[in-house]
Amino acid sequence: MPEGDVVWHAAARLNRALAGKTLTKSDFRVPRYATLDLRGRTVDETVSRGKHLLTRIGDVTVHTHLKMEGVWRVFTPGQRWNRPAHQARLILAAEGHEAVGFALGIVEVLPRAKEEDVVGHLGPDLLGADWDPDEAARRLLSDPARPLGLALLDQTNLAGIGNIYRSEICWVSRVDPRTPVGEVDDLPALVNNAHDVLMSATHQPPWRPRAYQRSRMPCRRCGSGIESQALSDDPANQRHVWFCPKCQR
Ligand SMILES: [Zn+2]
Repeated sequence: MPEGDVVWHAAARLNRALAGKTLTKSDFRVPRYATLDLRGRTVDETVSRGKHLLTRIGDVTVHTHLKMEGVWRVFTPGQRWNRPAHQARLILAAEGHEAVGFALGIVEVLPRAKEEDVVGHLGPDLLGADWDPDEAARRLLSDPARPLGLALLDQTNLAGIGNIYRSEICWVSRVDPRTPVGEVDDLPALVNNAHDVLMSATHQPPWRPRAYQRSRMPCRRCGSGIESQALSDDPANQRHVWFCPKCQR
């Protein structure tokens, strides 16, 4: 599943293509909005909130979410798409650019004043201008017995972390992801590390994982073999977490 930095980059891409421009095409390929036409309206901006994208067009907001497979791509007019056309869920075009959302998990249109209905539940956004580490730490501690690796995935605690970065944040912080949140020695430092990991991912791609999917490979800090274990709230989706058993306590 795309993580916060991927969504942040998608917002930046959509802004470069559409912000400040008048829509010359809007094609919603989801039944609920099949007749909606936003042509002639000006796109103000797209902002990311955790893993959600809000494209603001006058008094309406187009809310999209990449979920598992979704992606926003931008093409020049006439350029051949590099994903199958049947996966297109939404096309927004303006002079010089055509933005296509493929396999989006959510496409919905709402009054801009109602954005909080779809993102109000989120904790502080790690990549947001209003990032609030104290509030993120407070929310993480609201369930002190919960394993850290699960609490970090809970978007109502802090928004933007997925399966890759929960492993990385725990590795950087030298904390075993199975540790109950309430027993983490320095939670404010860990929250700051979470911010640093996400921010650096927006600035320096491509990015090399230090724990994620490195089972049995040597820890880049101590040389011990990285281990993994399923750590998930969802029995149907047993996602693994990776950690160094020696230097993450
Ligand atoms: Zn290690």
